[in-house]
Amino acid sequence: MHRYMSMEIFDLHADIGMDVLSKKLKGEKDILKTYHLDKLAQGNVSGVGMACFFEGHENWQTAQSMVSALREELEQNQDRLHFYKGGTLSEDRLNAMITIEGMCFIEDEPEAHLDWLYDQGARIGSLCWNDENALATGVKGNPLRGLSTLGKRAIQHMNKLNMIIDVSHTNEKSFWDVLETSSKPVIATHSNSRQLSNVDRNLTDQQIKALIQKEGLIGLVAARWFVSKDESLQTANQLALHALHIKELGGINHLAIGFDYMDFLEGNFGRASMASDLQDASQSQNLINALKEVGFNEVEIKKVAWGNVEAFFLKHLKP
Ligand SMILES: [Zn+2]
Repeated sequence: MHRYMSMEIFDLHADIGMDVLSKKLKGEKDILKTYHLDKLAQGNVSGVGMACFFEGHENWQTAQSMVSALREELEQNQDRLHFYKGGTLSEDRLNAMITIEGMCFIEDEPEAHLDWLYDQGARIGSLCWNDENALATGVKGNPLRGLSTLGKRAIQHMNKLNMIIDVSHTNEKSFWDVLETSSKPVIATHSNSRQLSNVDRNLTDQQIKALIQKEGLIGLVAARWFVSKDESLQTANQLALHALHIKELGGINHLAIGFDYMDFLEGNFGRASMASDLQDASQSQNLINALKEVGFNEVEIKKVAWGNVEAFFLKHLKP
């Protein structure tokens, strides 16, 4: 009945860095090729932020191992992907970026640590995951605690490096501290609207408006509880309604996508954590069709899927 529409997508958040290290430690090789590149291509995902994820206890050595392992795989697969660090996006290969989720491994001298991450190619980073660390406070930390003095230095240095700041996991106090401290726009790579699903990882209308006003981006996330607390509504269509709500708040030029697929992870994560029709990268076009379904026109969908992210990177990353 409905014309199927396929559109290029930039997915701002997938924990692929973590996956590369954990499989490498088990002796596997060619992890991007074996587990990820085909699935991304099937979903027409032509850009992806590959996150190195740290939950709060990892040290600097672990951080270095993960980032280096991902960088090596990105360098080895240049026939199929473009290791994106800024400038023009490739039109014929997957644009793959290194991103950092959580920086619990920085306990002093944030500048030196951030310089190393930047040199490896990392271009987006969040100071914390859900944890409370030396830099910032995540959604599960003390609600009265925000950024530390060290965390403010980290933000200032990221501004100086042109490394993009991600606020998806910060608690509200840290969120407002980051917005006040950062001289540049910031992004929430994978957070939805709290109005539609009242969980601490989603954004209040006030936060969404502040991100819009600061010229930032908001990435729609397909983790099922962030889509809806009602299990029957954990679908791409419901996620599209989050997009509609953000659009109504003035966000059409600030919407993006950060699915946070977990099908390749072990333990408590996995496919069961996702919306029913957005379980892995190959199903990504279901969101494109859902956006159409809830009333977005083609020009608007292109902005959400690709255009807003591309414009943001061209403006805020060094070429
Ligand atoms: Zn996350």
